[in-house]
Amino acid sequence: MPRLIPPAPGPDDQYFWDGVREHKLLLQRCSDCGLLRQPPSPMCQGCHSLSWDTQPASGRGTVHCWIVSHHPTEPDAVPRIVALIDLEEGVRFVANLSGIEAERVRNEMSVELCFAEIDGVTLPQFAPAREESS
Ligand code: ZN
Repeated sequence: MPRLIPPAPGPDDQYFWDGVREHKLLLQRCSDCGLLRQPPSPMCQGCHSLSWDTQPASGRGTVHCWIVSHHPTEPDAVPRIVALIDLEEGVRFVANLSGIEAERVRNEMSVELCFAEIDGVTLPQFAPAREESS
């Protein structure tokens, strides 16, 4: 089984990995105009401000599109479903989709955030949303 290359956070994304370790998905938010951005970047694309803080994501979203990824040199490795998720906050996030077979994945299906421990690294993932209890 291929080993995970651990993340190497820098000044722009240390907050993200700190949040993930606490099982939070933090979105970068411009302190001046409030625009959310993902992936992290040093400057707001809306107003060019360098000031920012973070906002926790709800963890709810829908599948925008997805692929099945096969490891290029490890044919026995389990293929992963990699999805582009439309978060309800209005930004997109790339993550593995777990808890579902590829044949059942549909665009626009509701998904929710979960976390996985892989090779000692906590990673944000998404899984099909559980039914709302009424
Ligand atoms: Zn801004």
